[in-house]
Order: sequence, then structure tokens, then C-alpha cells
Amino acid sequence: MTTTRFAPSPTGYIHVGNLRTALMNYLIARKAGGTFILRIDDTDPERSKQEYVDGIKQDLEWLGLTWDRVERQSERLERYSEAADKLRDMGRFYEAFETPVELDLKRKKQLNMGKPPVYDRAALELSGAEKDAMRAERGAGVWRFKLDQERINWADGILGDISIDAASVSDPVLIRGDGQVLYTLASVVDDTEMGVTHVVRGSDHVTNTATQIQIIQALGGQVPDFAHHSLLTGPQGESLSKRLGTLSLRDLRDGGVEPMALLSLMARLGSSEPIELRADMAELIEGFDISQFGAAPTKFDEQDLYPLTARHLQSLPYKSVEAQVLALGVPEELALHFWSVARDNITTMADLEGWWTLFRDGTDPVIDEEDREFVAQAMQLLPEGPYDGETWGTWTAAVKEATGRKGRGLFMPLRKALTGQSHGPDMSQVLPLMQVIRARS
Ligand code: GLU
Repeated sequence: MTTTRFAPSPTGYIHVGNLRTALMNYLIARKAGGTFILRIDDTDPERSKQEYVDGIKQDLEWLGLTWDRVERQSERLERYSEAADKLRDMGRFYEAFETPVELDLKRKKQLNMGKPPVYDRAALELSGAEKDAMRAERGAGVWRFKLDQERINWADGILGDISIDAASVSDPVLIRGDGQVLYTLASVVDDTEMGVTHVVRGSDHVTNTATQIQIIQALGGQVPDFAHHSLLTGPQGESLSKRLGTLSLRDLRDGGVEPMALLSLMARLGSSEPIELRADMAELIEGFDISQFGAAPTKFDEQDLYPLTARHLQSLPYKSVEAQVLALGVPEELALHFWSVARDNITTMADLEGWWTLFRDGTDPVIDEEDREFVAQAMQLLPEGPYDGETWGTWTAAVKEATGRKGRGLFMPLRKALTGQSHGPDMSQVLPLMQVIRARS
């Protein structure tokens, strides 16, 4: 059965880059009728925070990315040490004692000699007595996985055929000196034991994948299908890494972005499929095909989310926004009409309030000097409210008759006098909503 997972580290809130990973894994699982696991990668006790675990769940729930179960790596430490023992028994795991400074020095030397900066496996040469001496002096060492120095190949779901020479990769550290299990081992144990069949993640994980394939094989697990999506850049192709913090899902939500707008964009961005607003998750699942995604960096422009949000709001049935409309204080008998007038003139739901304030309180009229007399005359002809859908037509006909003005010269000054703006909804629809017309006085 198809099983995927989204595996965030709870060291911060999730952003658009993480969302891409989450969404792809979610869509693959749902399309296949499989299982989608939310896996919390919290093996780092110092940086992992419950607040972020809760935040990640809230963000996924807001988007409707429901998971079938949650797994926490911090509750599975036992499994990881069993796997470590297994690797040790097989002779694929060795303890190394170099300090970060020593490793750095080795790397610099190698680079100076034009060699790739790969760990030289000096620790493999240590005798038992030398290791004991090291341990006494420096404390426990790190544990490295001994790679088989051969090519590692896989057919990547996005990048195509990948081949990495293991000799060009350092033996990965899987356990730190203080005993903390690192992501690479934990992830492999989980993917294997949880029956994960497809792993989609960012292309920054390609080298990890190479080493993980060997670890999975050493542990006798089934290697999943891997796909690595390109990383997001800003609209000009600039790196987003520093800005991702400001592109958290909660910031976007607070800025009024609607879930379907965000999902519609992120589920297709970087693929050959057009980006269009989708009605619901079912439509997104239906049209999703990972093979349509390209390897090139994907440009992301936050601004693209707003037209999609506006379009989504326009498509909503009144019932789904009624509570929000009434919460603004719009009288029940006007609420449906208010929504049908305002919805085509908002970008986010927050804009609704501005329209209702305008209708409820009126606004200072905007009157150009040359229209002053004309507007005064027109206001004399405006009947007492309340108004209906006919009022604008009969009123402007009377104003035309009295002043001889027509077309834009007639309508625009009146719109500006009533609403203070030169754009907006159809005035015949607006007038019945206006509770106060300040231009009258
Ligand atoms: N916790 C890892 C990360 O956030 C997961 C990577 C993976 O999907 O394997 O980068």
C-alpha cells in the first residue's frame, strides 16, 4: 500500500517550502488511497519545541492536509539503538574521535591538494587500545556508517536517473558523541519500519538519499521510491532561504490568504500544469502527477496568492460566509445583498469590513472643483432612503435631465461623492446598501 510521510523538525513553523513537500506527499497518498503519516522529527531535544509541533498541526489542519497517524521520533529512540547495534554487528558502524576543528583542517588540506573533502576514515585504523585512550581523553566518539564505495543509483521521480559515487561522500555520522541519534538514521529506520513507499523531499536531500539507500539496504529494508523537488526561489530567481521565515503559513493566513488559493498554487507550481484555482482538494488530488514537475528551481511569488484568493472568495456560496458577514454587524436583511456586491471587490476577507464601514457610516465625499455645483444640484434631486435597485437609475435620469450631463461626466462625480472612490461595485447595487450619504449634508 502506498504510504508517504511529511517529516518536519519542530524547530520552527512551517513555510511555503515545507508546504510543497507536505502537499506532494499528501497528494500521492490520497490519490493512491494510501496512508499519509505526519512524522515529527524531534530527535534534537534542545531545538524541538512542543509549541512548534502544535503549530505545525494547526497549519496543516487549516489547509485540510489531514494525516492518518502521527509518529514522533523522540518516542522511538529504542528502535534506533537497535538499528545501530545491528550496523555495529555487521561491521558497518565505527566510532571516530576527530573534533570539528580537526575535521575542518583535514577538509582544508584536501581542498588545497585539489581533492574532494571526504572524511579519510582515519578512525578505522585505530586499535582497541587507541580508541580506549581517545575515549578517556575526549569522551565517546561519533558513530559513522561505513559506506560501500560504489555507485549508488536510483530512478528519481522528478530528477530522473541519479548516480552518485559513494567514494565522493563522507561516511555519515549517525550518532553524535553525546548519544543523540541523527536524522539520517532515525529517518531510515522509520521509513523502513513504517512501510513508507514514496519519499518526496527537497533536492537539498539528494546526497542524504544516496547514503540512506545504503543504510536501508544494510538493515535489510525495502528502498522506497524517491523524488526530490527543486527548491523555491523568489520571483527574480533569488534565494529564498533567508526569507522563508517570513513566508510561514501562519503569516500567509494572517495576511488573508485562503487555503484553496495556497494549495492551488503550491500543488502545481514548478510543474507543466497551468496554475488555476481549484474548487476543492478532490480536484487537486485528481490532477496531481509528480512526473509533471521539473528539476529547475521554482519561482515563488507571494503576490500570486492574492488574485487566487480573490477568485476563491468570489466562488463561495453565501452560506459559507454568512457568519463572517453577520459578524461585521451587517443587518440580516441586507447581508446577502451586501455579500453579492462586495465579493467582487475584495482581495481578502479582511477587505469586507472596509466596504461595510463605508456603507454603514458613509464617507467624506470626493468632489472635484469643476463638479461642485453639479454634485450639489444632484444631491437636491436624491430622494430620501432607503433605496432600492431602481433608485440609481431614476435618480441619474433626473440629474441628466436637470443638468444636461451624461455618461462618465454624469456618473463618475456621483460615484466619487457617494463612495469617495472612483472604482467599485455597480452603483445601482451600492445605493441600497448606503445607510448614510455624507454628500447630502
Ligand atoms: N526532518 C527532515 C527535514 O525536515 C525530513 C527530511 C525527509 O523528508 O527525510 O528536512
